[in-house]
Amino acid sequence: MVEIGIIGVGGRMGRMLVQAVQEKGRECRLVAASERADSSLLGQDAGEVAGVGGIGVPILSDTGRLFATGRVVIDFTRPEVTLACLAQARQLGCALVIGTTGFDASGRAQIAEAAKEIPIVMAPNFSVGVNLMMRVVAEMAQVLEESFDIEIIEAHHRHKVDAPSGTALGLGRSIAQAIGRDLGEVAVYGREGMTGERERQTIGFATVRGGDIVGDHTVLFAGEGERVEVTHRASSRMTFAKGAVRAAIWLAGRRSGLYDMGDVLNFDRGGRE
Ligand code: NAD
Repeated sequence: MVEIGIIGVGGRMGRMLVQAVQEKGRECRLVAASERADSSLLGQDAGEVAGVGGIGVPILSDTGRLFATGRVVIDFTRPEVTLACLAQARQLGCALVIGTTGFDASGRAQIAEAAKEIPIVMAPNFSVGVNLMMRVVAEMAQVLEESFDIEIIEAHHRHKVDAPSGTALGLGRSIAQAIGRDLGEVAVYGREGMTGERERQTIGFATVRGGDIVGDHTVLFAGEGERVEVTHRASSRMTFAKGAVRAAIWLAGRRSGLYDMGDVLNFDRGGRE
């Protein structure tokens, strides 16, 4: 039975995570949950807040009490919150599942450093479909890059605070790596005014924000006389929550290291566990 803690339990993803943990029944159990110090949810039962009924887990403001040896803490919050938790997790040897997006290079380096001591699964998207798409578009790019332009288009709800989405960047990194380009050098984030003609090597990103869109991603390969589009549309956050809980169960008891969803899903063995 894997003991799970959730940071930011009152958030859109936090509430879904509680439901996903409850659905897993015998494999894992929520033992601790936290929210920010000024949250009106402090002291309330995490299960009640998530709509699954009382589970005897009060929401605390003290993230320190989430961490314990052998436990897995799931984090879908903000980069600064995640980074502030790394020291406590390292001190206690607590595993982390990081779903938060929007880290800069320094943030990613701090996470990689922590992963030398504790096991961490980090993914910009925990859905099976998107992780498969990352593989597929990388393979397609290897064949098409000679004569096709590559653009990535993403759409999310109006409350999302970072852009482009971590998933769009993940798709870009996966493609760039497959065709030997450095995403930092070839990425173009939005276009305005007299931009000049498109440069061949670039990978363009376009962002749409509005309403309650859970998350759409399209990779467009545009050639002369034909286009290929690969699209993933998430219609429920539950798909991310279930993936994150699956990652947490997979991570329990593993050696330190920085893992991704491809490791959890065991893609290299055709998805077989
Ligand atoms: P949200 O704003 O609804 O939830 C974040 C929660 O964290 C809020 O309830 C907030 O009060 C809480 N929080 C903030 N500071 C805290 C602190 N110091 N201690 C404890 N809790 C704190 O946001 P969301 O839509 O749930 O998304 C959260 C993050 O997850 C974003 O970065 C988003 O991009 C990412 N996300 C990732 C995936 C994925 O599959 N990897 C899927 C969806 C969202």
